Amino acid sequence: MKYISTRGEAPVLGFEDALLAGLASDGGLYVPESWPRLSEAMIAGFAEKSFAEIAIDVLHPFMADDVPRERLAEMVHEAYTGFEHDDVTPLTDLGDGHYFLELYHGPTLAFKDVAMQLLARLMDDALVRRGERATIVGATSGDTGGAAIEAFRARDAVDVFILFPDGRVSDVQRKQMTTPREANVHTLSVGGTFDDCQALVKAMFNDAPFRKEMSLAGVNSINWARVMAQITYYFVAASRLGAPKHPIAFSVPTGNFGDIFAGYVAAQMGLPIAQLMIATNVNDILARTLADGVYQTDTVVATQSPSMDIQVSSNFERLLFDVTGRDASRVRALMGALTQSGGFEMGAKELELTRALFAAARIDEAETLEIMRRIETAHGFQNDPHSAVGIGAAEKAVLPDGVPMVTLATAHPAKFPKAVQLAYASDADTPQRVLDMLDLPERLTPVANDLAAVENAIREKVGLA
Ligand SMILES: *Cc1c(COP(=O)(O)O)cnc(C)c1O
Repeated sequence: MKYISTRGEAPVLGFEDALLAGLASDGGLYVPESWPRLSEAMIAGFAEKSFAEIAIDVLHPFMADDVPRERLAEMVHEAYTGFEHDDVTPLTDLGDGHYFLELYHGPTLAFKDVAMQLLARLMDDALVRRGERATIVGATSGDTGGAAIEAFRARDAVDVFILFPDGRVSDVQRKQMTTPREANVHTLSVGGTFDDCQALVKAMFNDAPFRKEMSLAGVNSINWARVMAQITYYFVAASRLGAPKHPIAFSVPTGNFGDIFAGYVAAQMGLPIAQLMIATNVNDILARTLADGVYQTDTVVATQSPSMDIQVSSNFERLLFDVTGRDASRVRALMGALTQSGGFEMGAKELELTRALFAAARIDEAETLEIMRRIETAHGFQNDPHSAVGIGAAEKAVLPDGVPMVTLATAHPAKFPKAVQLAYASDADTPQRVLDMLDLPERLTPVANDLAAVENAIREKVGLA
């Protein structure tokens, strides 16, 4: 499989080069040159298969030229044995054809573990085979940093540096980043905001000599392999509910559009999906776009579901590429307008193709807390605020009779203690392994909000100072 940029002006790459590059050199995102199709018989066979077996069948076509199937199988098994549930992503029945797909049984209790655990192994494997090393740098407002550190700790060919805004992540989130003791893991607490951290990471990537010296690599959600690894659970959930004979719908708590785009890819691969519901909080740029075709950024509002507090959904560019008929010059024009004037208008045909599969709903803060309480009363378990937004949007979906709806549960409530307090006036039911972690010693390096200071800290730790 070859990978091409949505903006059409970057080199065509194989899977491993796209994996290590992250962003394309023309500012676009890498996508496969065509969507692989799985036969109906293969999808029907998934009913009898485990999560790991399905992952191998679904993902191998994307990397068949670079990664032997047996090697992928080893990495998949390693990546998912650390999940607390035998099914990796179990389904819970909420009644009336509504199911809840629990994606939070990984080491940091959020769905980002599903992709990051595999991505880290794929990257490490590629680097070791090439005799190279890389330095991962990333900024986090909470979830991504912990997932990256958990995934890359103890990998051979990678040093990982995560920048987080000092004092602005929850205790659980900070300790997930600062308690791993492996020498290749470094947490930098920056005297600044999340935006400052992001700006520093961007500046490091733009510093060409530093980028080359350190072999910088990124693992944010624009990396194709992260989107790819999320395709698996759409097939897993659907195969448990009668696919491919019966179509199915999904409601996906959405920020950067990576998770739901994986559902779109599953549909292109042959999974019968009746609808993909984009669930947003009050940061509703995608719901507004679906309503009137105008993608217009606004100021970000802080909510109880911070991982969706986003105004530009980077992965939406991948969908635009397809609904423009893979017209890279059209995508360049739309993205240029976004940079210049903060928005663009989709064409009638582009909007029609988008609405053929996607719908969107916005859930405000009061509704989110109300849903958290209602689910606890009816089913006896706590919800995190992101998943609650997903449930609320699922309830607003208009579907043909008999189509089951699966809401993706993207995080464990214990990660969002403030929202849990607000909703339930009690503490989160915290898993024992999290309580154990809270007692471990922390290790972090405070750095000034200054590019030279951060680059020096990284050089020193990698031993090139
Ligand atoms: C990252 C995240 C999301 C948003 O996922 P995208 O792929 O960015 O759309 C939703 N919920 C939680 C808990 C997250 O961590």
